[in-house]
Amino acid sequence: MNLEPSLRYSHTIMSQIIKSGDNVIDATVGKGNDTEFLSKLVKESGKVYGFDLQKDAINITKQRLAKSPLNNTKLFNVGHENIKEYVKDKINGAIFNLGYLPGGNKNIITRPKTTITAIQACLDLLEKNGIIILVLYYGHPGGKTEKNSVIAFVKSLEQKEYSVLEYKFINQVNEPPILIAIQKK
Ligand code: SAM
Repeated sequence: MNLEPSLRYSHTIMSQIIKSGDNVIDATVGKGNDTEFLSKLVKESGKVYGFDLQKDAINITKQRLAKSPLNNTKLFNVGHENIKEYVKDKINGAIFNLGYLPGGNKNIITRPKTTITAIQACLDLLEKNGIIILVLYYGHPGGKTEKNSVIAFVKSLEQKEYSVLEYKFINQVNEPPILIAIQKK
């Protein structure tokens, strides 16, 4: 067994907790890697809610999902800070890939205030034993500020209510992504 990089490990954790029929959120749809993965995990009886500010990201992901036999995903071209207006169900999981869209506009980045509003919305909707995963990319301008704010926020979560894990390689160059997993007790 090899230690997995953060992005792959995010899927490993999700696949151990999320099951058929669950409701989940992809808070940063991008090109839809996580959206498609979650759609397969929750199967036809589950629901995936996806959010992205960029119309292009939503369109790319719609095209990608059109090839899937599953019809369980709703995509919203709005910021994840509005999650509570769009998701009324309780959720079992959520995933955030923070940073900018690879190959896209590097000026469109996730930002501390809206990211934390969205994480809080997901925490409020989260069922017992549910999981929120954050994959933090922070090598870009603005990235470190977001990373520091997000880590301060998740560290402040009450230990009696949540387990909070930080997973990162500490001997790698070029600021490898950090994974944060939050499980509701
Ligand atoms: N998980 C994605 C994938 O599989 O391709 C990659 C996500 S990328 C690192 C970050 C995404 O967050 C970008 O597509 C960007 O448009 C989006 N984003 C930035 N601010 C946002 C916000 N406030 N609400 C929702 N999405 C946002």
